[in-house]
Amino acid sequence: MPDVTPKASHFIDGNYVEDTDGAVIEVVYPATGKTIAQVHSATSNIVEMAIASGLKAQEIWSQTSPVERGRVLRRAADMIRERNRELSILETLDTGKPLQETLVADATSGADALEYFGGLAASLTGEYIPLGDDFVYTMREPLGLCVGIGAWNYPTQIACWKAAPALCCGNSVIFKPSEVTPLCALKIAEILIEAGLPRGCYNVVQGYGDVGGALVTDPRVAKVSLTGSVPTGRKVYAAAGAGVKHVTMELGGKSPLIIFDDADIENAISGAMLANMYSSGQVCSNGTRVFVHKNIKDKFCERFAERSAAIRIGDPLDEETHMGPVVNEEQLEKVLGYIEIGKKEGARLICGGNRIADKDGFFVEPTAFADVTDDMTIAREEIFGPVMSILDFEDEQEVIARANDTEFGLSGGVFTQDITRAHRVVAQLHAGTCWINTYNLAPVEAPFGGSKSSGVGRENSKAAIEHYSELKSVYVAMTPVESAY
Ligand code: NAD
Repeated sequence: MPDVTPKASHFIDGNYVEDTDGAVIEVVYPATGKTIAQVHSATSNIVEMAIASGLKAQEIWSQTSPVERGRVLRRAADMIRERNRELSILETLDTGKPLQETLVADATSGADALEYFGGLAASLTGEYIPLGDDFVYTMREPLGLCVGIGAWNYPTQIACWKAAPALCCGNSVIFKPSEVTPLCALKIAEILIEAGLPRGCYNVVQGYGDVGGALVTDPRVAKVSLTGSVPTGRKVYAAAGAGVKHVTMELGGKSPLIIFDDADIENAISGAMLANMYSSGQVCSNGTRVFVHKNIKDKFCERFAERSAAIRIGDPLDEETHMGPVVNEEQLEKVLGYIEIGKKEGARLICGGNRIADKDGFFVEPTAFADVTDDMTIAREEIFGPVMSILDFEDEQEVIARANDTEFGLSGGVFTQDITRAHRVVAQLHAGTCWINTYNLAPVEAPFGGSKSSGVGRENSKAAIEHYSELKSVYVAMTPVESAY
């Protein structure tokens, strides 16, 4: 086991910084349940240092030429790719996700974001608006000091997805990782500085919700971007709203995945497995309500159970392992609790359903319930574990209405060979991100985010620029002021 103890808890102004007065945060490796490192939650002194440094750095960074800003981000992307294995191992130790996944989905996705926004930086311009003799021009300006707050499921990716568009537009960033996975963002901060980012433009402070709260309510902070659950989102959105700050909210979901009877059934099962078992089911956009047409339901359930039995569960550092543990004991208890509720409310277990007792860590079997109805708790609440619900349907309009009958609106998917039906259905889904004949792909080129309670704003793509910059209009008069007075 590599030593993953960071040099200190926080990274501020280009340096590791410690203040042992802050509460201890234990970093537990989910595959063993053992503590592998400790960090301290930020004290008010640390928060103040991070804010002061971020404000000062932002003045320099916003004056740096856009082409140079882009070059720094692209250099960081290259360095992340060169160090992919080391960063992937750290991601695995922080989260318990298997190395087979982290090698291709985490640091690489972070590098994509830095490369993409690095490429965009020099092309951000305003416009010229003719008004006869007079004219208006617009300037695209950074917002200032932005705060990013992360969830624990994708610590490297979230750190980069928030850094890349923010820095591209000339903002500085303070990132607070989830207290559950504090290690990865520190490495991203190190790399950004090594790539040439001015000190203070990307600071990392550790802490629980109270540290997030202190950052969100500080009047010097211009923008808050949260990735987290809906209940936390409501609190953070309200606190940011009180200060009339810009926000991006990437929150939870209970997304529908609709499988019609003309779908290629093995392909649809692959989609459903990815949509429920990847990262042990701890993915916000997961398609956890799988609506399967009644004509193919029996076959679907039979093959799903067979294929689930072949999922290799075990040591996440072994590259042959498909599935690791869930992130911690609390999450394990929550997931097992939902499995019990599913059984009690009358859903039929077709595979899994248990903790894997012969392992020390927080392992749960890949689990699927059939005969789930819309009102069951497991069909309504986000479980965030490897637990899939299969619901039957007969009719297209019926399934669309049922798919939309939720407070969430993060994602949705459809499997069918009928091209017109595929487009017709996704057009009616209340969701920010939809997939046709695949699931959960989130390339940086495409906007990603949620509707309804699942979020506000979009990450990735050119759309993110709108959420990290604002336009100033300048009216230019070419003739004397016409005054009636
Ligand atoms: P969480 O809501 O418990 O915590 C998220 C972050 O918010 C943590 O860093 C936490 O310390 C911080 N926080 C908590 N209370 C706060 C407060 N009052 N003020 C400021 N910050 C506060 O979420 P989690 O359990 O870490 O992550 C899982 C959730 O995240 C799931 O609901 C999942 O769907 C969601 N998620 C969404 C996306 C997306 O892009 N939409 C991506 C990943 C995860």
